[in-house]
Amino acid sequence: MVMLGRQGAGKGTQCVRLSRHYVVPHISTGDMLRAAVREGTDLGRKAGELMAAGNLVPDDIMIGIVEDRLGRDDTTQRGYILDGFPRTVGQADALAQITVDRPLDVVVDLDVAKDVVLERLASRRVCSDCQANYSLDKPPKYGWVCDNCGGEVVQRADDTPEAIQKRLDLYERETAPLIAWYADRDRLVAGDGLGSADEVTKRLITAIDLRRRREASPSS
Ligand SMILES: [Zn+2]
Repeated sequence: MVMLGRQGAGKGTQCVRLSRHYVVPHISTGDMLRAAVREGTDLGRKAGELMAAGNLVPDDIMIGIVEDRLGRDDTTQRGYILDGFPRTVGQADALAQITVDRPLDVVVDLDVAKDVVLERLASRRVCSDCQANYSLDKPPKYGWVCDNCGGEVVQRADDTPEAIQKRLDLYERETAPLIAWYADRDRLVAGDGLGSADEVTKRLITAIDLRRRREASPSS
């Protein structure tokens, strides 16, 4: 399965919940890149330089990472939830080739309107130590000190209004066409991302299961 959606739609949270529910690995290309940068691998050094300069990591590198990860035993045996890839139609084409023997079951579009994610991202705060999420509406219990680890809770450097707008524009331009691309190929399940995390998870599981049942018995 692939998870699509604007930044701030709650993709990360929902991917973690769905990966527990279906007992499949959650593959976040963003987490993989950040880990590679931290560990200082060849890939991490290359990707780190690009990201520090504000550039996207090029398709060939991303495709290589995903192909390698999807070839490991846990995903070949259980399946997976892919988060952060594909971001472009070109990447979706490459993914279709990588998965030609085991095509995607579903592509979930976690839909939250642009003005809503703008507001969510602008009020988002994170712990600078453990990355726990907070917001202006849901702050830590005592000041801006993390409930989990006592770390300082701050606004992410890339959560300025300008940077948020830039990322959302990039999404409209590059990633939104993917939704039409997957709809054409009859893979798409749309999920309304408004409401509590529990409500959204329930909604997504219902939609995904319905879709898989239909796939399993095409006559009904
Ligand atoms: Zn913390």
